[in-house]
Amino acid sequence: MSDVSQVIEPQISDPILDEGDHDRFTHIVLEGYTPKGSEDFVPVGNSVVEGMINQTAVRALCGKEWVPGKDPGRFPICQSCVEVAESMGWKVPGR
Ligand SMILES: [Zn+2]
Repeated sequence: MSDVSQVIEPQISDPILDEGDHDRFTHIVLEGYTPKGSEDFVPVGNSVVEGMINQTAVRALCGKEWVPGKDPGRFPICQSCVEVAESMGWKVPGR
């Protein structure tokens, strides 16, 4: 297992658009990180783009898993994701 306590690059994902989902938020998906002293991006999971193309599920920081849709909307950012990111000392995009 790699050391992920380095520089983390969380990505803002598309919102959940599941039918009947009352939690319509923009979630943060951790796609990977760049180790200190390296310029190589290390992926840690499915990227949102891959999920859209391959219809594979991605996992948000808050634990929500879903298959990303093609239609990003304007939803408020998921506070659970923000709390996880900030508790890990990661920079939250767009804040
Ligand atoms: Zn979330």
